[in-house]
Amino acid sequence: MNLADSEEMFAQLAARGFCATENLEEADAVLINTCTVRDHAEHRAVSFLGRLGSWKKEKPNRRIIFTGCAAQRLGKQLKKQFPFLDILSGAKEIEQFGDTLDQSGFFPSQGPQGEPLQPGLTGYVTIMRGCNFACTYCIVPTVRGPIKCLSHEHILEEVRHKAANGAKEIMLLGQTVNAYTDGAVSFADLLNKTSEIPGVQRVRFTSPHPIYFTPAFLNAIKDNPKIARHVHLPSQSGSSKVLAEMKRGYTREILLEKIQALKEVGFQISTDLIVGFPTETEEDFAQTLSLVDAAGFSTAYCYKYSPRPGTPAAQMKLLNQNILEQRLDILLNKVRGLAQAAYQAQVGTVQEVLMESQTKGRSSGSFWVKTRKTYSVGSVVRVEIEKADETLLFARD
Ligand code: SF4
Repeated sequence: MNLADSEEMFAQLAARGFCATENLEEADAVLINTCTVRDHAEHRAVSFLGRLGSWKKEKPNRRIIFTGCAAQRLGKQLKKQFPFLDILSGAKEIEQFGDTLDQSGFFPSQGPQGEPLQPGLTGYVTIMRGCNFACTYCIVPTVRGPIKCLSHEHILEEVRHKAANGAKEIMLLGQTVNAYTDGAVSFADLLNKTSEIPGVQRVRFTSPHPIYFTPAFLNAIKDNPKIARHVHLPSQSGSSKVLAEMKRGYTREILLEKIQALKEVGFQISTDLIVGFPTETEEDFAQTLSLVDAAGFSTAYCYKYSPRPGTPAAQMKLLNQNILEQRLDILLNKVRGLAQAAYQAQVGTVQEVLMESQTKGRSSGSFWVKTRKTYSVGSVVRVEIEKADETLLFARD
């Protein structure tokens, strides 16, 4: 979502004559778009901001723009701490970013000289902002507010625009993306309509919430091959007790039912898991380990619980850091072989590959595939998988 927001803000900068550079020394401005989901991410962004103080001192006309979720959470406190910060724009204000720039009266020192951002093969399209859940560990509802869905007309117009500019794959984005509806069009309808736009070869989406994967949803998309068969489905824990304390809105059993239903229509499933939630016992942790066995994830991203100020879980007593470290090590060992096994399981299958270079592309299930022949970038080719290593499938073509 931050990538999509960054693109949106860049478009506003580009409309005012800015272009992108990777060279800090020639930049008139730096925009730091931030995440606050974990303490570490926020800390890195704020330290980078601090380091820019000397960069700005060299040429006081330089501008520093700090945006996104950490900007929303930390607010004016940042201005006090870093008086050289010029523009602070929170995650809820992205749509007004152009006005914010205009009010600042800030324009580039010269006309565009560098390269504009190149449109990529994947077009990121935000379809909703905010979240209506209140998971007890999560800062997102505080910084992004409740769900606001964009109209399907607006979204499809943006998809048309991206496809006309060369996007072959469209990634629909939202915090609980599959809760989308604008009252007229459901999420399944939106996926199908997106896939019908000329030029669109594949449609992906992230991040979904398990409870919205209903039989009606799966039924509505199951015959559409353009909808990629990979989903990143945050599980967070394998213990129903911990899931209730996290207020995730599902039990282990419901989660496994949803996973099974997704697999039946061919989805590969990756996941996020948190270890060391404050109430997590050894037995709860064992349930998370057994969820990994039961679910058959294609890969899993594992995190130590990180308390976020202002969330209900931040009031709870933390587990000892050694316990968190030990549990994370055990879980990481368990998930280490998942991707390799998932890649091996593709050997002998036929895959549709969207080529991202002349000899490499991604399958619908999100596996990287290397071809022998060369193909044009952006084309979709059907190939048989001959062999696999830990991170790559090799085609017999
Ligand atoms: S569903 Fe829960 S974890 Fe996800 S953004 Fe909403 S509150 Fe946070």
